[in-house]
Amino acid sequence: MKIGILALQGAVREHAAILKQLDVETVNVLYPGDLNDIDGLILPGGESTTVGKLLSRYEMLSPLTALGQSGLPMFGTCTGLILLSKHIIGSSQHHLNLMDTYVERNAFGRQLASFEADMNIPVLGHAPFHAIFIRAPYIVKIENEGCPLLEWDNKILMAEQGNLLAAAFHPELTNDTRIHEYFLQKVKKYRYS
Ligand code: GLN
Repeated sequence: MKIGILALQGAVREHAAILKQLDVETVNVLYPGDLNDIDGLILPGGESTTVGKLLSRYEMLSPLTALGQSGLPMFGTCTGLILLSKHIIGSSQHHLNLMDTYVERNAFGRQLASFEADMNIPVLGHAPFHAIFIRAPYIVKIENEGCPLLEWDNKILMAEQGNLLAAAFHPELTNDTRIHEYFLQKVKKYRYS
């Protein structure tokens, strides 16, 4: 199994370190050719307008959208969540247009721009997950087959839709591997189906 990590910006090394801990091979993805031969893709945090522009410049937008539509498992954290979304409120920035989500960027205001909190995420079991938010977005609304996995203060902070998984926070900045393991279950399902 090989997981690609979009390596244009953000916490690429941290995602790779978690996957290494889980004995999974990773490859940094920069160009369309890097997408051959991967079983799943992680879209890390960063700045979504910048990453969108780079994806457009490297002609990566359509190949990524096509892969997501074809069922390749993708996991977006923070900026990754914004990129996966079909609707970005008040913005026409480049994105992949895959999940039936409406996303508000930088949605926690100045005082809460960055914060950490223990949250209960039922699909991960009983122990709370320590979630780290950095100028995070949130999902205002999710439609069709989209399913919220974490709701807090009327905000959807983690969600899935078939092969797609998105979190508003940064699981790669903790030592808790459960969300990456949850993603890897999707990858195994895709690989062996
Ligand atoms: N605020 C950033 C954006 O809109 C996301 C921040 C992050 O990825 N940590 O792209």
